[in-house]
Amino acid sequence: MRPLLCEIRLGNLRHNYQTLKKIHGNKLLAVIKADAYGHGAVRCARALHDIADGFAVAFLEEAIELREQGITLPILILEGVFEPQEYDLIDKLDLWTVVHQQAQLESLLAHNWQKPATVWLKMDSGMHRAGFFPHNYAAAYTALAQSNKVAKIIKMSHFACADEAERDITDRQIEIFDLACEDLAGEESLANSAAMLRFETARRDWGRAGLALYGIDPTGEFSGCLKPVMRLSSQIFAERVLQPNEPIGYGATFYTKRSTRVGLVACGYGDGYPRRASSGTPIAVKGLRTQIIGRVSMDMLTVDLNDSHEGVGDVVELFGDLISVNEVAAAAGTIAYEIVCNMKRSKRIYIE
Ligand SMILES: *Cc1c(COP(=O)(O)O)cnc(C)c1O
Repeated sequence: MRPLLCEIRLGNLRHNYQTLKKIHGNKLLAVIKADAYGHGAVRCARALHDIADGFAVAFLEEAIELREQGITLPILILEGVFEPQEYDLIDKLDLWTVVHQQAQLESLLAHNWQKPATVWLKMDSGMHRAGFFPHNYAAAYTALAQSNKVAKIIKMSHFACADEAERDITDRQIEIFDLACEDLAGEESLANSAAMLRFETARRDWGRAGLALYGIDPTGEFSGCLKPVMRLSSQIFAERVLQPNEPIGYGATFYTKRSTRVGLVACGYGDGYPRRASSGTPIAVKGLRTQIIGRVSMDMLTVDLNDSHEGVGDVVELFGDLISVNEVAAAAGTIAYEIVCNMKRSKRIYIE
């Protein structure tokens, strides 16, 4: 059997939820959109069911799957509806929804609700992707508040740069949000993972934790308190010794500089491992760090075994405990979010 394994350590997920909830204070939504960032939304939701305050997904279909699998906690739909008919199921399945634009607001108010809705009203405080502009926000809030169709409004916004060294943009977004909310009562939610870790002023009534929940540090400053949930491992299944100045793999992009022992690893871009993680990307063989040499193929990749006595049958960690997803992402010119979301084909196993 092919040895590529994607382990999901649910104990680490619970640890991270509890750690982040303590850091943020108040209540915390576990963001499990995109199949829980590739970790499996239903299994992650079940693992958090007795400790989470609620979940967040991107769109209605993701919430339906969770309800069908018996998840009864609150679920927030972060993008809100695409079509007015979706409010039927939001009502029936007792879901919470974001309203970020006028069309969603009007169709929500026109809908015949069986029970009053919980609405997260989104402000565009500077990211300029979605949300009501600050000068239109109070009017949207009032329209909802005065309607008998709305039970509760949570004021929310989202940050563009909370994980970047530059702090001014986030501080400015918080100022803009607070100014526009001055006279509006009710709960608030600002922080994603990076913001709850780095910006005390972004911690409000509700946090929304995604990346850090999976043990991936969005900033490089907090890895000590988070435990990686996903571990991708495989084995060396062949090895060869190449003379100096021999090419390896597609495109002959890497030439040996010395006599080189090369290990062949069962993992490739067909499994979601980034193809751009070429020569130099860190990888661990039997607990020792080494590097990828040559291009990543669809089903295999090659590693330098020179400085170890490892070989066929030895365990390879692509990322997890010894190698962070962030390191692989940096080597591949992408972000950790994209790598874990892309995991596929490997055998996924859950560890309680
Ligand atoms: C995805 C998402 C989050 C979670 O972000 P992380 O950086 O993964 O913590 C929070 N809020 C909104 C609106 C999102 O879309």
